[in-house]
Amino acid sequence: MNHFGNTTMNANLFSRLFDDLDDAGRLAIETLDGQRITYGDLIAFSGRLANVLVARGVKPGDRVAVQVEKSVPNLVLYLATVRAGAVYLPLNTAYTLNELDYFITDAEPALVVCDPSKIDGIKALAAKVGAKVETLGADGKGTLTEAATTAKPEFTTVARANDDLAAILYTSGTTGRSKGAMLTHDNLASNSYSLVDYWRFTDKDVLIHALPIYHTHGLFVASNVTLFARASMIFLPKFDPDLIIKLMARATVLMGVPTFYTRLLQNPALTKQAASHMRLFISGSAPLLADTHREWSARTGHAVLERYGMTETNMNTSNPYDGDRVPGAVGHALPGVSVRVTDPDTGKELPRETIGMIEVKGSNVFKGYWRMPEKTKAEFRSDGFFITGDIGKIDNNDYVHILGRGKDLVISGGFNVYPKEIESEIDAMPGVVETAVIGVPHTDFGEGVTAVVVCNKGASLTEGQVLKALDGRLAKFKMPKRVIFVDELPRNAMGKVQKNILRDAYKDIYVK
Ligand code: AMP
Repeated sequence: MNHFGNTTMNANLFSRLFDDLDDAGRLAIETLDGQRITYGDLIAFSGRLANVLVARGVKPGDRVAVQVEKSVPNLVLYLATVRAGAVYLPLNTAYTLNELDYFITDAEPALVVCDPSKIDGIKALAAKVGAKVETLGADGKGTLTEAATTAKPEFTTVARANDDLAAILYTSGTTGRSKGAMLTHDNLASNSYSLVDYWRFTDKDVLIHALPIYHTHGLFVASNVTLFARASMIFLPKFDPDLIIKLMARATVLMGVPTFYTRLLQNPALTKQAASHMRLFISGSAPLLADTHREWSARTGHAVLERYGMTETNMNTSNPYDGDRVPGAVGHALPGVSVRVTDPDTGKELPRETIGMIEVKGSNVFKGYWRMPEKTKAEFRSDGFFITGDIGKIDNNDYVHILGRGKDLVISGGFNVYPKEIESEIDAMPGVVETAVIGVPHTDFGEGVTAVVVCNKGASLTEGQVLKALDGRLAKFKMPKRVIFVDELPRNAMGKVQKNILRDAYKDIYVK
């Protein structure tokens, strides 16, 4: 088996996934309504859809923009698009028509696939770039699957080179315009294959797939890794804690964002017994609180394996399978991935334990931003390292720690304040669930360090108590100027705290 360049010399991800399939009858996907889809079914269905794409004029290199709910046909549409040599472009289902206008104009797809309810609005947008439109509903029904029923299942996978595009994923774009990250066949194949090894996936694994598939986590990490391993997945439309706990009795792996783990911990049905059939719990896409990690270990007997990646780079680091899964750390660089920490201003590599900019290089790293050569150039060093925008350090044991996004750094009175340091101090106080530290405009200091804190129900912590507890533990310039209590922090669908929303909400508190 050679997933890095098989005998047919076709670097197409689809060929690398399925050319050496030994048993077409093997189960690939099961759904809640009792469908059992084998690898053979997947390949045949992808062939039908690929034939439909070609009939609609989709050519190799063309973009297929897809804004539809999570469903098996949507996942197969991804495989079919790649198989036809085209570029799969998933779009968050929450985007409004107004937002879609930007993506469609920017990406100029040959075909847009949307929910039947959105057809009128999408048609108008697609017309602007000459794109055709097909529909696919959450129930799997629509013009696309209708056409597939009469299309042939045979399809010769289009030959692609390592460097050809397989997908474009737009970054969430909380600052400035959203950018299309161009991912190649080799980016996706090499990363999945290395994760299969690192996380010891086998054909005995059963993954609980509860993530959305418009994002790198659910689309590539969860689906590609499962399919490469010839494992199977239980494909859920959304996160449902009760159901997930029930499914643990016959599944082996859960991949989730940190919110999955905090919500599951709130469920009394989560016990050692309930998790006893499970082999592995993986978390990523946002920081998993060290407390959540410890609580999960105590409740289930499993140490969550935290990994770190991003849309542009696929997965970069992972805690080890066998070694220590360190709470609050994202583990070691994956095989084939180089990670370094540099001085953000000079780009000079920094020694171990020193905080700076995380940079990565490897076959996992994307080709660049779609139609943004200047932006692409600005985010790569001349030796090929990608500047992630994440601030962190590598410790003496080679574990990478992330302290937050560079843009979330607070500069108060000319001093750099790393939010994570203050957040960890406050999080450790009794009664605190979690904290977000932000910088907001301040007349004297430029930015004022501000702590937004969520407490347990019934806890009666005050601003004065928090500040008193921090006094003497933090340098004066790091001390929050204000501590604000809220019921919950704003998060996006991937569980990331949206600090931009907090900064906006409190932008006037220090300025007169
Ligand atoms: P996205 O492109 O949406 O996957 O977001 C990528 C960003 O999420 C990274 O640049 C990090 O800032 C953050 N991220 C991903 N995984 C982790 C993790 N395990 N711990 C902390 N931050 C993470």
